[in-house]
Amino acid sequence: MAAPLALTDTADPSFAELLALRPHLTLHAMDGLVMEDVPLARIAAEVGTPVWVYSAGALRRRARALKAALTDAGLTATIHFAMKCNDNLSVLRVLAAEGLGADVVSEGELRISRAAGIPASGIVFSGVGKTADEIRHALAEDIFQINAESVEEIEVISAIASAMGRTARVAIRVNPDVDAKTHAKITTGKSENKFGVAIGDAMEIYARMATMPGIEPIGIATHIGSQITAGMSAYRAAYARLAEMVKALRLQGLPVQRVDCGGGLGIPYRDEPAPSPEALAGAIRATLGELGLPVMMEPGRWIAGPAGVLLASVVLQKQGAAHRFVVVDAAMNDLVRPAMYEAWHGIVPVSGARAVAPLSPAEVVGPVCESGDTFARGRLLPMLETGDAVAFLDAGAYGAVMSSTYNARPLAAEVLVDGARFAVVRQRQTHDALLHGQHVPAWLGT
Ligand SMILES: *Cc1c(COP(=O)(O)O)cnc(C)c1O
Repeated sequence: MAAPLALTDTADPSFAELLALRPHLTLHAMDGLVMEDVPLARIAAEVGTPVWVYSAGALRRRARALKAALTDAGLTATIHFAMKCNDNLSVLRVLAAEGLGADVVSEGELRISRAAGIPASGIVFSGVGKTADEIRHALAEDIFQINAESVEEIEVISAIASAMGRTARVAIRVNPDVDAKTHAKITTGKSENKFGVAIGDAMEIYARMATMPGIEPIGIATHIGSQITAGMSAYRAAYARLAEMVKALRLQGLPVQRVDCGGGLGIPYRDEPAPSPEALAGAIRATLGELGLPVMMEPGRWIAGPAGVLLASVVLQKQGAAHRFVVVDAAMNDLVRPAMYEAWHGIVPVSGARAVAPLSPAEVVGPVCESGDTFARGRLLPMLETGDAVAFLDAGAYGAVMSSTYNARPLAAEVLVDGARFAVVRQRQTHDALLHGQHVPAWLGT
């Protein structure tokens, strides 16, 4: 990854600066914005908009960069893609071919990961509220590891595993009480958060776990938050606490086979400082390295975020009393991050001519009946005409997975680009599908 851009507080990065950090995207005078070898205008024309487009090359490159960083730091590591950020079957297939496992948080994700060809031996199940059915399913599949988040949950796992005649490999998710300095909605490692067990209680729970039937205590895990860009200090503090805990467990004669370091590595959506995988690998090495244990990582956003864009078309430009509004055919029901987290996404015109035209501020909005359906305020964009396509950058993680059909808007299609090829990997939902499964009771008449 290139160094962060030097920018003032107010200036947004230019189109060229945004693209320079995203090597799978290039801008051409004739073809306009191109992903790998496919002009995005072609996808917009053939598949329609809004449409999510993912770069297989970028997914592979990022998976490999993360693997290399861990290996180069001398770590024995496995990577379990946090598929809640992107559960598209073809995306998972690309990552499975790179040897990545999956971090799943529901039976649905577990089933999709298996359908994508990820072996059960590569799957870790996280989450604060796994149901008995989900635990049963995970044990029947004999997945790699269950990360338990409470003593109450461990008791349930023990009872289910015993009844099934199975042994569950269980790690305790420890809440290290560190502040990851990210958005409040995605910080997970502070003592007031719902996740994990307090580090002060984790030792005792681990010891108890060793006496429970149907449970093999396998290790400890943590995940302190998402979109972490504030450097390595929170990671280091969390991992140092895990290292102390492993040493204390060993003194008690309790074996620890591996440590799950979680995910959360942030990406530069605008001009945030981007922590590198090398820095993260270095932090793991410095804190946990001396234990000589295999480590696990659960990255989501870092791998998939920059690999995807959301393509939208301009419905119209509207001159309001105070602003120019660019109304696009994507909305908060497609990409919710701006409405939900006040997230900033790069917005780049797909036409080469538009991308070099004079710029003026615009409000970029969707058609949904909420003022929160705003993608950007005061964004410098060229004048745009009805039908012009724009690309929302870094939409490969927490994009399509968070979509809804709010305002009865069908779910957008998904496309995978691989070199000069592309394919629709999830068809656009039909309007008929919105009615599917609904039944009007007879007493309401016809
Ligand atoms: C969401 C989540 C991740 C991935 O977070 P990213 O910020 O996408 O890397 C990893 N582990 C757990 C337990 C999670 O809930």
